[in-house]
Amino acid sequence: MVLLSNNLMKKTFDAFQRALPHIQELHAYVPGEQPQGAGWVKLNTNENPYPASPKVAQAVAAELSNLRKYPEPTSARLRAAIGQRYGLTQQNVIIGNGSDNILDLITRCFVSEPGAGHTVPSYSLYPVVAGMSGQALADVAFDRSMRLDVEALAATQAKVFYLTNPNAPTGVAFPLPQIEAALQAIDGLLVVDEAYVDFGGESAVALLQDYENLIVVRTFSKSYSLAGMRVGFALAAAPIIEILDRVRDAYNLDRIAQAAALAAFEDVETFERQRQQVMATRETTRAALDALGWFSYPSATNFLFTEPKNAQGESGPEVAASLFAHLKAQRVLIRYFPAHPLTCAFIRVSIGTDAEMDVFLTAAQSWLNHA
Ligand SMILES: *Cc1c(COP(=O)(O)O)cnc(C)c1O
Repeated sequence: MVLLSNNLMKKTFDAFQRALPHIQELHAYVPGEQPQGAGWVKLNTNENPYPASPKVAQAVAAELSNLRKYPEPTSARLRAAIGQRYGLTQQNVIIGNGSDNILDLITRCFVSEPGAGHTVPSYSLYPVVAGMSGQALADVAFDRSMRLDVEALAATQAKVFYLTNPNAPTGVAFPLPQIEAALQAIDGLLVVDEAYVDFGGESAVALLQDYENLIVVRTFSKSYSLAGMRVGFALAAAPIIEILDRVRDAYNLDRIAQAAALAAFEDVETFERQRQQVMATRETTRAALDALGWFSYPSATNFLFTEPKNAQGESGPEVAASLFAHLKAQRVLIRYFPAHPLTCAFIRVSIGTDAEMDVFLTAAQSWLNHA
């Protein structure tokens, strides 16, 4: 086939030069590994070890015959159910294609000079969404206590401050009075990302009635076992939701995701039983790590952040890296964050089933016997 006639030249386009300057600088989010083969004990991305409510499968099956038609654009039934559960109205709720979608909407609507803010360490998606806005991202550092520095948070003058509570990857929960102090001290918006709150944190939802500068973000990915379905939501004052809805993709949730999330949300019994089980397994795992003499932060999440010690009683980056590699060789996948001084001597292990945690602990013991 002749593509170009004789006197025409091929056309080149340098995408890296032509992209907007701040997109040229952008580094995409690096998710935890999702191994495709079987046989892995996967404790690296904080997924729920238990299947979603059986009601989800029924709801999904019922929706399959409707896929010819567009979904209801606003996820109205889900907004109503969520609003009612939290003593709010549908006007206080927006549904996202994952809570990552919501974080992006907030950033696009509200981040201008001098930019956004976050704590370090926290969720590594924030630099990506802030980076897409072309604005700066201010850091608020922790020390080893992992206590929140509210004054430093306010001093960033961030238009939007992203705060993960309970925090990741540490698992540490910040008490509600600190959240309230932050809301008092800032001029911008505080986004409290409560991805893990169902595993023992204190929710900021009760503060919504007094603070119009608060957005609470939640997800179905962890406590509702629906990471693969991509559903998150935000709770906020009605004018904030109205603004976010202006930039939301018209059909941001497909029919199946809406039906699945609603079914999971309404099956309170399954939700309650499974989150209690995860918390119980977390505490028995924590006790086993304590018995090894490893320091772990108190966790209000479905993971533990622990500082391994080798057989000589040493800790540090080489020790953590060695454990990570040993576990991976045994097909036990956990998360290691080598880049930051406060995280590089630690590993983060998601809470699986009791059987999975036994495999993890046995593999850790075999590392101790060899290291
Ligand atoms: C897992 C997680 C989320 C969830 O993101 P989804 O897009 O809803 O899957 C949000 N924030 C934090 C801090 C998380 O760890």
